[in-house]
Amino acid sequence: MIIGLDLRLSEGHGMMSLQFGKSREPIIFDLMNIIHDLTAELVAFRNERDWEQFHNPKDLALAMSIEANELLEAFLWKSPEEAEVEKVKEELADVLAYALLMANHYNLDVAQIVRDKVARNAEKYPADKARGTAKKYDEL
Ligand SMILES: [Mg+2]
Repeated sequence: MIIGLDLRLSEGHGMMSLQFGKSREPIIFDLMNIIHDLTAELVAFRNERDWEQFHNPKDLALAMSIEANELLEAFLWKSPEEAEVEKVKEELADVLAYALLMANHYNLDVAQIVRDKVARNAEKYPADKARGTAKKYDEL
């Protein structure tokens, strides 16, 4: 039984530490390998169906946006607590799958592009100015 889950990304190593259970023993996964393996599974699934011909970056972007809107549908006319987690899981998986296929198309290092974006956001949103506020960076 999972008692607690603690996710931490260590700087620059692509490693993810997970801590489970009462013992709090750390289980280390290589985030890069997880992303690589997931992408390989998606590409294999796609190629077995000869769907690569449809997976140009424009249509991958459209598909990602459509799936993001299906995710929104899980929350439409409901409070956040009323959304069905199964629907959220389903649509979030679709969004992530297309995102990984897009990154694969451009041969992008997913961990690096996210880190680069977080670094840019850290400059735009210094913690001492942005803490506890939803203001846009140019309003801080
Ligand atoms: Mg969907």
